[in-house]
This record gives sequence, structure tokens and C-alpha cells, in this order.
Amino acid sequence: MSITASTSGKDGALSCWLCARPIAGRLQWHHTVPKAKKGRETVPLHPICHRAIHANFTNAELARFGTDRARLLENERVAKFIAWVKDKPPDFHAPTR
Ligand SMILES: [Zn+2]
Ligand SMILES: [Zn+2]
Repeated sequence: MSITASTSGKDGALSCWLCARPIAGRLQWHHTVPKAKKGRETVPLHPICHRAIHANFTNAELARFGTDRARLLENERVAKFIAWVKDKPPDFHAPTR
């Protein structure tokens, strides 16, 4: 989960797979099925959304959910996270380092 890239200089039209807001600045590519489980498909995420996914799901759960985003939203903590983050500016990061 350390793959980072920047949208600056490219067309910044990507939107986040989890929260659906546009991604400005840093984005991370997330394997919907973890690489360790032979997943190949990746989706763009805000770093903060990426962290929320891995904080709430194990690789085994992610492998089971695959690209079915609705399954992630059934998790109460993830649903709350999205409700909280959706009003934040697109380049918002948590102030922790
Ligand atoms: Zn996001
Ligand atoms: Zn990931």
C-alpha cells in the first residue's frame, strides 16, 4: 500500500472509488482484491480513504468483496467515514503524520 502518485500535470479527472469525490493532489492505487490474493484490478483512492479501507478490512475480506463497493459501505465505520469526509475539500488529509 505504499504506491503513491500525483495527479498534477495529468488530467485530474479521476474520482475516488470509495467516496466518489474528485481526487486532487495525491492519489493511491488500491487493489480491490489484494495483490497477495492475486488481484490485478486497481482503483484510485484518496490516501485517507485508502487508509480507512485497510483500517477496517482484512485482506481476506477485501478479496471476498472484490469490486463490490456496496459491500464496503455496509460496514458502519466505513459508512460513517464517508459521511464525514464527503464535505471535506478534495485535497484534505488528516493532519496526522
Ligand atoms: Zn476518497
Ligand atoms: Zn489498498
